[in-house]
Amino acid sequence: MNSERADVALIRCDDYESKKLDRAIETCAEIAGFPDIKDKIILIKPNVLNASPASKAVTTNPAFVEAVVRFVKSRGAKEILVGDSPGWQPVLLAAKTSGIYDAVQQSGGTWVDFREVSPHPVVDGKKLKNIPLTALLEKVDLVINLPKLKNHSLTTYTGAIKNLFGLIPGTAKSAMHLQYPAVIDFGEMLVDLALSIPNCFTFMDAIIAMDGQGPGSGTPYSLGIVLASMSVAKLDWIASQCVGYDPKNISYILDSMQRTLGSANVPEPSTYPLRVSEVEHSGFKRLPYTSKLGKRLSSIPRGLRSFAAKFIHLRPIFHKNKCIGCSACITICPAKVLVLDRKNGSNIIRINDKLCITCFCCHEVCPAKAISVGRAPIRIVHRRLPVN
Ligand code: SF4
Ligand code: SF4
Repeated sequence: MNSERADVALIRCDDYESKKLDRAIETCAEIAGFPDIKDKIILIKPNVLNASPASKAVTTNPAFVEAVVRFVKSRGAKEILVGDSPGWQPVLLAAKTSGIYDAVQQSGGTWVDFREVSPHPVVDGKKLKNIPLTALLEKVDLVINLPKLKNHSLTTYTGAIKNLFGLIPGTAKSAMHLQYPAVIDFGEMLVDLALSIPNCFTFMDAIIAMDGQGPGSGTPYSLGIVLASMSVAKLDWIASQCVGYDPKNISYILDSMQRTLGSANVPEPSTYPLRVSEVEHSGFKRLPYTSKLGKRLSSIPRGLRSFAAKFIHLRPIFHKNKCIGCSACITICPAKVLVLDRKNGSNIIRINDKLCITCFCCHEVCPAKAISVGRAPIRIVHRRLPVN
């Protein structure tokens, strides 16, 4: 066993074959200092964004979840709970479609849901003093965070920090979008939440990542790595660079590092055995830095801001030729600005642009890739807007 330690374990693993995964998880745990969990109660939190098959790379791969459950069992945990809470779909539907539910059953874990909530204290939060999270946190000794590395239309990149947002049950997540519509504020809230989970270890599934229009409508990208760390901030700092982002331009990652280190100066975390520069990511389609766009907009004089926003701001764009009329976007929209208009056999989503908070929850949940994110200075399909 390798005894070299690093802030972030960064190793190659090119597919989800079970023996390779077992080796990768063991090695990562050793390098990143996985704690003693003998007789402890563990909550494993994969990303079960929605009911998508594993091949789409929307969720943590079920084989990855299974390997982590096997590993936790081998370390003598007393109880292994696995759960998540998608934003709008029934959790069991999402867990079964992704294959994660069966993976948990087969490997001896217990699938749990996050229905019961209790207020979780946040110390020194920038936005929060407490936050309603799954009540399971009161009984578990360690959270094992299993994010998937993906692009994200709102936060540019999603990984360890953002995955913990799923500890807020169901549609209560939408309320946070409404409360913190600006991406920088939303990011500070995410960091408040993530850093308030004291005992948390992350294994990141970046074997098949997602580029393009993530987190729900992007394209699987074979990155071939696994990462692990005791620090969500350090892990995201490294993982975002592994696909070519500069984490200093992603406000919530920079904020999380500065808060973790207690300093505005952020030295590069150590990695082992790979260096970031050894991770090949050519052709990975990145998204624009949304926190930079927000800053650029706020530097424009107030009187011109709403006009300029049409050219700077990214907005949801609805494609009626792909829409299947499922209403998921309408259900999830925290600002309630969408209506479905069925006309001549087409499903047309109409939006009240003035009230849209550009949280992109609609884009995140659309099962038909009928919503993209881009600049839409002139709305053609949505000219006649509904007013709520
Ligand atoms: S329309 Fe989409 S982006 Fe706009 S507020 Fe609703 S969910 Fe958010
Ligand atoms: S745009 Fe997408 S989420 Fe909304 S109704 Fe159409 S298919 Fe469903």
